[in-house]
This record gives sequence, C-alpha cells and structure tokens, in this order.
Amino acid sequence: MQWYTPVPTAATGLSCRGCGGTYPRTYMLDCPACHSLLQVEYDLEALAALRPGDLRGDTLWRYAPFLPIGDPRHFISLGEGLTPLLRLPRLGQRLGLRHLYLKFEGTNPTGTVKDRSTATAIAAAQEFGFNAVAVVSTGNAGSSIAAYGARAGLKTFVFCYARAAQPKMHHMAACASHLILYRGGYDDLIRIYDRLMEEMPIFEAGASRSTYKMEGKKTIAYETFEQLGNQAPDYFVAPVAVGETFIAAWRAFNELFAIGWAGKVPTMVAAQSSEANPIVEALRDGGPIRPRPIGYTIAEGTAVGNPERKGEWALQILREGKGLAADASDPEVLEAQALLARTEGMWAGPTGCVPLAALRKLVTQQALDPDAVIVCVASESGLKGEYAPVEREAIEPDEAHLRAILREGLAAG
Ligand SMILES: *Cc1c(COP(=O)(O)O)cnc(C)c1O
Ligand SMILES: [Zn+2]
Repeated sequence: MQWYTPVPTAATGLSCRGCGGTYPRTYMLDCPACHSLLQVEYDLEALAALRPGDLRGDTLWRYAPFLPIGDPRHFISLGEGLTPLLRLPRLGQRLGLRHLYLKFEGTNPTGTVKDRSTATAIAAAQEFGFNAVAVVSTGNAGSSIAAYGARAGLKTFVFCYARAAQPKMHHMAACASHLILYRGGYDDLIRIYDRLMEEMPIFEAGASRSTYKMEGKKTIAYETFEQLGNQAPDYFVAPVAVGETFIAAWRAFNELFAIGWAGKVPTMVAAQSSEANPIVEALRDGGPIRPRPIGYTIAEGTAVGNPERKGEWALQILREGKGLAADASDPEVLEAQALLARTEGMWAGPTGCVPLAALRKLVTQQALDPDAVIVCVASESGLKGEYAPVEREAIEPDEAHLRAILREGLAAG
C-alpha cells in the first residue's frame, strides 16, 4: 500500500510535562530527569503551512503530519479511522438538543476507538526496532493490540482480566501470540507490569504512559473537524478511563486552533462510569483525584479506579478549560444504549454509551446550550459485548398467527 503525505511527520521530539525537559523522538516511557509524563511536540509552523485539502488517504495516516511516525514504511493499517459522524435528529429531539452528532467508533477494525492509538503504537514499535509489544487490558485494548501486532508480525503479550466478555476473549486468543489472563482488576496488575516493562525489550503499548500510542487517538478530533465542514464543535463528549481519548482529542483541537484551521477549541466534557468516577468526583469536589477500588461495571472499558498521571492531566484540562463532567450508573448506561438503538439504529456497547448517558444527565441539569453543536463519542460497537439472554417466547410459524401479529403491530401507535 502507498501513502501520499505532504509531510510524513511534523513531530520534533518529546517534552516533559513536569520539568519541561526536551528529548529527541526516541522510545522513552517517562522523563529520565523527573519521571513525569512525556508528550510529543510538533513544528506548528510546518503544520500551519498545510491546508485541510492537503490531507490524503482513507485511513488514519491521512493525518500523518500530525502523528509521531517518521518513516511511512512503518505506517500500519487495518482500515481504521474515518468513522461516521452521524447526526442524531430523533434522539436530539428527545433530549431537546438541536445539533447533536454521534462519532461512532464501532466501525473500526476491532470495533473500538482503541484501533486509533494501536495504529500509532504498533507503528512506533516498528520505528524503534522492537519485535514484541505488551498491553494490560479489560478486553478492547488487548484485541486491538493483538490484531495490529499480528498484522505487523510482532510478538504480542496481552494481559487481560479474566472477566472480559467471551467475544473479546475469542478475538484476543485468535490474534495474540501470548494471551495471559489474570485475576482481579487492571489496578491490581498495572504496577507489577510497569516494572517488568522497564527491564524487558518489549514495547509498552499500555495506556498509562505510552507517549506515541496516545497520538493516534488525536485523529478522532481531526476527523470530527473535517466532517463538520472544517469546524470544531461547541462541545465534545468523550469517555474517560485512563484519559487517553479525552486528552488526545483536546490536544488535537488545540493544534487545529493553534495552526489557524479551527476558530475555537470545544468545551470538553468527560464521561465516566459511576463505578469508576474519580475524575468526575475530583472536578465536583475541587480536590485531588482519590483513587478507588473498582468492583464491576458493565462499562468494562472504563473500569479504571486509579487513572494516575493521565487522569491528573485530564482533570487539569477540565479545570483550566471550564469543562464539564458527569458519570452514569450501569442502569443509566444500558438505558442510553437502548435509546440510541431504538431512536437511531446504532448499536454501541455499554462502554461506548457512557458518554451519551453522561450527556443525558448534563441535559437534565441544564448544563449545556441546547442550540450548540454537540459531538458525543460512542467508543465501541455493541457486537463485541456479552448480554443477558433476550427473554422472548418463540412461536410456531403459523400463517394466521403471524398475520395477526403484523396487523396488530401496524395498528399500534
Ligand atoms: C479504552 C476505552 C475507552 C476509554 O479509555 P481511555 O483510556 O480513557 O481513552 C472508552 N471506550 C472504549 C470502548 C474503550 O475500549
Ligand atoms: Zn521531567
């Protein structure tokens, strides 16, 4: 496959969020001086010299100038990105919102937003000469890394919690070279895993530290901007587990504003499960993030009780940008899922419906302008989930009976 890009990358290097130290574009998990998170820096003048019309291609690498991979031979794709931005007229009317859109991530190759960050993670692993990658996952990151790792011919060590939905398990078992199940939650394993990643020649493709991985998720914002006719929305509602999607979207909207493409940066709205809501709580109470143990939430992908430094970053974005945040309980998430399916025909998984459920709460609280352009992310397909059996009695294929059912259905309001 060939990718045409006017500039392969405008990335210039890494900078430390703690001490401001700068480093070349190499594989580093945190700042060698102060151990804070690193971020990728870009030559904004080079980006400002581009026009939206210069972007080419129909995968995530359309945005290659804004991504941190230097050599186009390392670009890897399963056809991720360019997901639909769908207007929700019926659901918008229900909620009293006149310009509501859904960025539906379920059409990505493994059915979730994770494929965006996986594409840049696997590309970076190749760029920095790794033969193996690893990730800790509740299912979605694992299947995404396993799939793209296979595509690149890398060894994949996927650590997945044992309660992951069976469709995700099958997917990971099929694609991963090494699938390792563990008991307990993400928070139980992550510290041990982090230590092991320091000593092994394995590319760390987890969400908590990886600098290059997060960059791929910026593309959700570039696409939204293009799909709105080269405009930023007024509000952008995104899920927050570790905070990657949220921070990446905010970074991208800021870049578009800085290079003069967008006239504004949207108000960022963070959505969490009530079972794992440390950022919503911290924003509401005005204090620091208080990590909490997670029991179980149906919104598996958001089950992170300690979002660590990326969580602090997300909180800072909310505080400085006067952003909004709301959480939703499991029943509220399932209600939002059913509402989206029935009113607009989109089948998103529970994790993917956390933003919509949180948005409904903010509407009830009259926290948003109903005339604003609101983009809500649905971060996964519903087809990878596991659900309680549908309780419905099967009938005999009797013509008269079926005719009666159809007549009754047509007559009903
Ligand atoms: C991982 C995940 C998220 C959010 O994760 P962040 O780490 O905050 O970006 C949201 N939705 C789905 C479906 C996910 O798999
Ligand atoms: Zn530092």
